Parts: sequence; C-alpha cells; structure tokens
Amino acid sequence: MRLVVASGKGGTGKTLVASNLAAVLASEREVVLVDCDVEEPNAHLFFPSEEKTLPVLTDVPAFDNSRCTHCGNCGDSCQFGAIVVLKDRVLFFPAMCHGCGGCELVCPEGAITMEKRSIGHVAFSTPRSGLVLITGVLHEREVMSPHVIREALAYASGHDLVICDAPPGTACPVVETLEGADACIFVTEPTPFGLHDLILAAGVAEVLGVPSGVVINRSMGDEGSIRNLCRARNLPILMTIPFDRGIAEAANSGQLVTDRMPGMKDQFLKLFTRASALPGVR
Ligand code: SF4
Ligand code: SF4
Repeated sequence: MRLVVASGKGGTGKTLVASNLAAVLASEREVVLVDCDVEEPNAHLFFPSEEKTLPVLTDVPAFDNSRCTHCGNCGDSCQFGAIVVLKDRVLFFPAMCHGCGGCELVCPEGAITMEKRSIGHVAFSTPRSGLVLITGVLHEREVMSPHVIREALAYASGHDLVICDAPPGTACPVVETLEGADACIFVTEPTPFGLHDLILAAGVAEVLGVPSGVVINRSMGDEGSIRNLCRARNLPILMTIPFDRGIAEAANSGQLVTDRMPGMKDQFLKLFTRASALPGVR
C-alpha cells in the first residue's frame, strides 16, 4: 500500500502526521517513509540518523561548437525553451531542460551529444527498527522536482507499506507524488487558508482517483467550516489533533509526539486503520 500524506498549504502539520504514522507503524511491521517534499525535506529532523546518498541525474545536451552551423533546429524543436540559437552561438539553459533528447535527434551536424547532470540526490537511512527513510533532495536553483520525486519513489517501490510525505500545494510535484497512490490523507488546519487550500488539494486527488480523508490539526473546536466541506465533498474526517502545547513543543524540538505522549500512539494506529478502510482503497 502507498499512502500519501498531503496538504494544500505548507505548515499544516503534514510532516508531523507522516512521521508519527510511519514511526508507530514501524513498531509493528516494516515501513518505508519517503519524503517527497524535495525542495524542503524535513522528515529527517524527526529521525536523525546516518545517511547514504545517491545522486539524481538527468540528461542534458552538450554542444560541439566546431560542428555547429547555427541552423536553429535544436532551438526550434525544444518545447521547453531551453535552447536559444543566435547567429554566432547557442545559448543553453540547463535548469529548463527536461532531458528528452529531441535536440540531439534534430541536429543535422551531429553537434549535440547527451551527457549526465546532477540535479539532486536521494538519501537513505534506517533510523529505527522497521523503518527505512528515503529522502528526495532537489539541489538549490534546480526546478525539476518531479524528476527527483520519481526517483525517490522508485527506490520504495515493491515495499508493502510506503508512507509519502508530499510537497505542499497542488502543482506538478504533488501530482507526481499522488499519481498511482492507494490513498491520501490531507492534513488541514481550521483557518480560511486551510479551508481554501484543502478544497484545491482534494480536487487534485479526486481527478487522480485517489481515495482521500482528512486530518484536522490544531483543532480548538472551531472547525465547523471544514467539517461542512468534508461532508459536502464526501471526505471522511479520519482524526482530529487538538491545539496542544505539548504537541507543539514536541514538533518544534524535533521529537515525535508519539514518543513523547504515548497516548497518541493508538490514535495514529486508528488513523492508519481508517485510511486503509477508505472507500475505494484496494
Ligand atoms: S533535451 Fe529536450 S528539453 Fe533538453 S534542451 Fe534538448 S530538446 Fe530541450
Ligand atoms: S541543431 Fe546542431 S547545428 Fe543546428 S544550431 Fe543546434 S547544435 Fe547547431
């Protein structure tokens, strides 16, 4: 089963839920936690441990200026605008390149060959018994998050239980993480922004056909609008986490709530049971 923990907006407690869920389940079975928030991964803060890393490579064109006639074919063919051909030179913008290899195919002079470029890395650790943490990391000034996410997820494939900490928002990185998942837990907070972004994020899961439920974090009993939305959209509320000083202190100091407050363990186990029983989960 691949279960994604997502949120429309950042800062709702998505990583707190994903990390505690993974830790609690790891005491009973083998779990892989994949941090897909590759622009700002932070699940490792809850699980300090020695890591091994592997680079994430992408293909980019290399230009042989001695062969290039500046015909313009490569620039015209690149739909991502990564190549601009001037009268006397070719300008290449690596961050915009998707590595499709099209420019190499259309060059009549054989002046382009594809080479590898590192855009990030994937880190691996086993911070506690039963738990493997896989962290995707996109290098600074790079933009190809989906490529790093795809690679991090590929390392987790084949495992029985994979929990993914998704990037915030509703753009391509979230779609990459959600696509093909068995279920999704949206973590939201009872604020107007939380409500607005939950609507958008739930729409993405709906389009992708991923069964979803909601965790309301920092509840002070004032989440009527979120409950109404969940009712209207047929989104089960799987768990409510109270606005609590102890929980905030644990999260801020990199401690798992389920380690600090043992009573929370049962609640996270119930969360998993409820998410597994969402209508449509295989
Ligand atoms: S490999 Fe594809 S995306 Fe990259 S520069 Fe060439 S045509 Fe553009
Ligand atoms: S297609 Fe080849 S020859 Fe034409 S501009 Fe590009 S690199 Fe130069």
